[in-house]
Amino acid sequence: GTSNPSKDYDVLFKIVLIGDSAVGKTSLLQRFAEQHFSDTHITTIGVDFKLRTIQVGNVRVKLQVWDTAGQEKFRVITKTYYRNAAGIIVAYDVTNGESFANTKRWIEEVKNNCGDDGVPMVLVGNKCDCTDKVVSLQDQEEYAKLMKLKFFEASAKENINVDEVFIELTRLILERQ
Ligand code: GDP
Ligand code: MG
Repeated sequence: GTSNPSKDYDVLFKIVLIGDSAVGKTSLLQRFAEQHFSDTHITTIGVDFKLRTIQVGNVRVKLQVWDTAGQEKFRVITKTYYRNAAGIIVAYDVTNGESFANTKRWIEEVKNNCGDDGVPMVLVGNKCDCTDKVVSLQDQEEYAKLMKLKFFEASAKENINVDEVFIELTRLILERQ
């Protein structure tokens, strides 16, 4: 990464959040973006993104993180949502086994929308602060290994591993550049 002092970042990446409704995608994004004052909030019909610049190594990376406006409930996420995505966060809820099982379908959808070359992806088991967990750490580990993906247990509520998810995904994207 070549530093450019005239700009407040070196590279810009589009990240998209996917996963079942109510797993905490919007909460993860709010937690991530609202720790800094540099975030911008833009709402249009059906799409929504927030910005945050992070430093990874010596590269200042501006992340433009897209969130759904609830259309995942009806499985009508359009191709536009995925277009030019540099990285994907697939979220599930560790208190909801179905949301974990459904990540397979979301990953399939990424493959259908982002081409065969693939796009860096991380799995996030949100709500790890909850005591009524039904998805075991071992199940997540085995699944992530099978899918050749990294996973994190996180909590948007308690601010556990949220930044780590975005930093790891950014590292994976940078490795590919
Ligand atoms: P989305 O539909 O995937 O965007 O999910 P939301 O961000 O709207 O969250 C759905 C519900 O889960 C809301 O009631 C949140 O307050 C709750 N929630 C989100 N993240 C967490 C978390 O980390 N822990 C707990 N306990 N609840 C959460
Ligand atoms: Mg949401």
